[in-house]
Amino acid sequence: MLDRTPFHYDDGALFCEGVALEELAERWGTPLYVTSRHSIEDRYREFEAAFAGLDHFTCYSVKANFNLSVIRTLGDLGCGCDVNSAGELFRALKAGVPGNRIIFAGVGKRPDEISYALENGVLMLKVESLSELRSIDRIAGDAGLTAPVALRINPNVTAETHPYITTGDSKEKFGIDEAELPEVFTLLGELRHVRLVGLDMHIGSQIFDPEFYVAALTKLLDIHSYSKGRGFAVEYLDIGGGFPATYDPMKPETPLSSFAEKLVPMLKPAGAKVIFEPGRFLMANASVLLTRILYRKRNHIGKEFFVVDAGLTELIRPALYQSHHEVISVRRHDETVVADVVGPICESSDFFARQRPIGDAPEGELLAVMSAGAYGAVMSSNYNGRLRPAEVMVEGSESRLIRRRESFEQLIANEVE
Ligand SMILES: *Cc1c(COP(=O)(O)O)cnc(C)c1O
Repeated sequence: MLDRTPFHYDDGALFCEGVALEELAERWGTPLYVTSRHSIEDRYREFEAAFAGLDHFTCYSVKANFNLSVIRTLGDLGCGCDVNSAGELFRALKAGVPGNRIIFAGVGKRPDEISYALENGVLMLKVESLSELRSIDRIAGDAGLTAPVALRINPNVTAETHPYITTGDSKEKFGIDEAELPEVFTLLGELRHVRLVGLDMHIGSQIFDPEFYVAALTKLLDIHSYSKGRGFAVEYLDIGGGFPATYDPMKPETPLSSFAEKLVPMLKPAGAKVIFEPGRFLMANASVLLTRILYRKRNHIGKEFFVVDAGLTELIRPALYQSHHEVISVRRHDETVVADVVGPICESSDFFARQRPIGDAPEGELLAVMSAGAYGAVMSSNYNGRLRPAEVMVEGSESRLIRRRESFEQLIANEVE
């Protein structure tokens, strides 16, 4: 069994692999993202093993964590990338992933982004509307190229997850509506500078129940048949990401085998190469956000607060999605107190935990906000004049800075007076 969390106590102190978190905080300061390289590798191998029976290609969804060292870690294992903007494409290329292993997605691609993707020979561009299809054809034609495209279908399946992370419902902006497909295929027959290579779906994130994939994939396979009937045999079926990760030990993730059992028998007879785009599954539990307790206080109604030096500017998930993150003391304390862990930002939503038992750590000690590897550092901001945090990657007993803490100079670098 693979080690699901590389973060563990040794002699009362929390470690990432072979490195004590206290040491890292001492050296690099806080708030600090700490990422385990082995965790990323293990999760990727676990993913590959679960779908080994299927001719497939895994493209890491870069938006989950776009640090160059993270992308490179996965790229070195043969993983491709799913990118959502020219900036993410730039990052994937910089991290050494070749264009032909990159998928360019996004519901609103600008013409310059389409050109940039074509220049770099991406594996395919996803198409999310009729207008976008025309636009890609025109831009490719002007450049003397043929654009490989995949149709992102909106399967109209409402996955049971937080409403902000469901994407395969007709109420949402994503994908091409089924009713438009006849027109889309007619247009594909007329356009000269696009070549249909794939059909694609992505129903959302943190999907615990495989039945939502089954429902959406049933639609995708129907469209695959329809596509063949219209004379378009595609090479790729892309079923997106959304595979779950454990944030709360009380709500453990559905094992990948449950997804594979349902999906592999459906996908195999289709005779196309399958693309997966996991993000959260690979990254969520690879990192923690390390933060120092600045103050402890208690109010007249007996409520306890740990005021820490990280906030929603470093990790916005609790504020944005009401997400659960475990918060644990870096030095083990057997006594716990029920408290709120809050940041220094001027917003009431700036908290990591509410009314939770926390190790009774004194001011000056460290807390670790767990499962911060996906949709954490990538969403950090300068709100309240905050400097984006530093990031460190651990491998065994080695650690290395993978992003410097921002400086005051960087904070104002683009401003013109
Ligand atoms: C965000 C996204 C993913 C990754 O989702 P996870 O839940 O992180 O696996 C994959 N594909 C597309 C198109 C996405 O937008």
